[in-house]
Amino acid sequence: MNNINNLLTELGVDLAPYSGNQIHSVSPIDGQTLASLKADNAAHVAAKITSAHAAHLQWREIPAPRRGELVRLFGEELRTHKAALGQLVTLEAGKILQEGWGEVQEMIDICDFAVGLSRQLYGLTIASERPGHRMMEQWHPVGVVGVISAFNFPVAVWAWNAALAFVCGNSVTWKPSEKTPLTAIAVHSLFMKAVARFGSDAPAGLAELIIGNSDAGIAMVEDRRVPVVSATGSTRMGRDVAQRCATRLARTILELGGNNAMIVAPSADVEMALRAITFSAVGTAGQRCTTLRRLFVHDSVYDAIVPRLKKIYAGLPIGNPLEKTTLIGPLIDAQAFSNMQTALTTAKSENGVVFGGERAKVAGDGYYVHPALVEMPTQTPSMFHETFAPILYIVRYTDLAQAITWNNEVPQGLSSSIFTTDVREAEKFMCDSGSDCGIANVNIGPSGAEIGGAFGGEKDTGGGRESGSDAWKAYMRRSTNTINYSHSLPLAQGISFDF
Ligand code: NAD
Repeated sequence: MNNINNLLTELGVDLAPYSGNQIHSVSPIDGQTLASLKADNAAHVAAKITSAHAAHLQWREIPAPRRGELVRLFGEELRTHKAALGQLVTLEAGKILQEGWGEVQEMIDICDFAVGLSRQLYGLTIASERPGHRMMEQWHPVGVVGVISAFNFPVAVWAWNAALAFVCGNSVTWKPSEKTPLTAIAVHSLFMKAVARFGSDAPAGLAELIIGNSDAGIAMVEDRRVPVVSATGSTRMGRDVAQRCATRLARTILELGGNNAMIVAPSADVEMALRAITFSAVGTAGQRCTTLRRLFVHDSVYDAIVPRLKKIYAGLPIGNPLEKTTLIGPLIDAQAFSNMQTALTTAKSENGVVFGGERAKVAGDGYYVHPALVEMPTQTPSMFHETFAPILYIVRYTDLAQAITWNNEVPQGLSSSIFTTDVREAEKFMCDSGSDCGIANVNIGPSGAEIGGAFGGEKDTGGGRESGSDAWKAYMRRSTNTINYSHSLPLAQGISFDF
């Protein structure tokens, strides 16, 4: 408890305004309650959106490069507090320290990206068919952006959205996972430090934090003053959010479940593939949206890969994620453990041969597991589901076309990869008829994206894109302007309308 209090103090968090008895932050490390908080009801949510809407009206008047300055200051706060915030992520979400710090680094990276972007919100100039006319496109702030985030990336997901949204001239309301409220409060507190340094140009209400369960998220999603909802979490949640937004014709950016595969081809660099498979499959204890869940290994390298993997798995250090040597921390809770055991039982009923998967003995009440490898005879029905735990199904293949078909056969379409040194195979995997995922990698695993690229996936993954490339456009409204600098009024398409 001392540890948590020290961290919160270091991060400038005062829990008093949040304390209550409805939302409990429980550390997956040992099952200890870190804090009990009150939940926002529908009236609180509406009031926060009112405040965010008023803030947006002021913020959109501030030039974008100046808005970038606020994000730059926030990035500085993150740099200063990286160690403490990363450790809080470890305490509340259970990921190992390296990954907790990595998550904060990802926030810093997107801040840097957004600062540059604040001078690059470019529109186009377009040729007009009419003489003495000019067409152009402008990008304007859209309003209040609602962000819903999941427990497994409790801080980075907000930053991917918020850093872009702020430079684009929007305000942001954030409903973090009810499993990780403390990290959200800490991020909010760091952002408010940046606001204080920035000065009075930053209106109160620019960033609003909503603490609560799914009902608080639903209240935000249904509010007509939120034109864009960016939701990260399960496909079940995304389907509900999409339907509610559709009834009021609001835009969504959906980042939902993944069921990611890797193909290991005959020419693969086996040592590199083994490292990539292990990190992608067991990192964050299999609780990343991009976690490797399905491995298709060519018959000719199967015996060079699978027995080695079993050896590696048997030696992986499982334990308290605060300890430097640990590589596999706990699952988030008892439900996650139970889901994993159910999935393994189903795999056995489909003639899967399971290696590992049992509960690991670690002091305290956390749910630690030995990551599981499951050799399957072919791609079976249970492999179509995302079980948020470290289960890696392995299937032998002989024909690349078959492996690509399996890659694409599942409902989800987030990330994928191939290990090959054959340029034809690599290009085949990335071409129009190759992987149907938002991310298709060559000679790296499916997990661990950089912020420079657009992040997201197709089908049940929701179709949204966040982070780099031109993802910023989703946080703005586009206006097309036609300007007539001539002395006549010709109509488009040559239409004559004389009177
Ligand atoms: P979850 O869907 O249970 O919860 C996510 C968030 O949605 C929480 O804040 C929750 O309160 C809120 N929520 C739930 N139902 C809602 C509703 N009907 N309306 C509004 N808000 C609602 O997900 P989780 O267990 O926290 O996270 C794990 C899932 O998230 C996995 O499926 C994982 O693949 C996915 N995920 C996807 C990405 C991505 O970028 N594609 C990133 C991280 C996690």
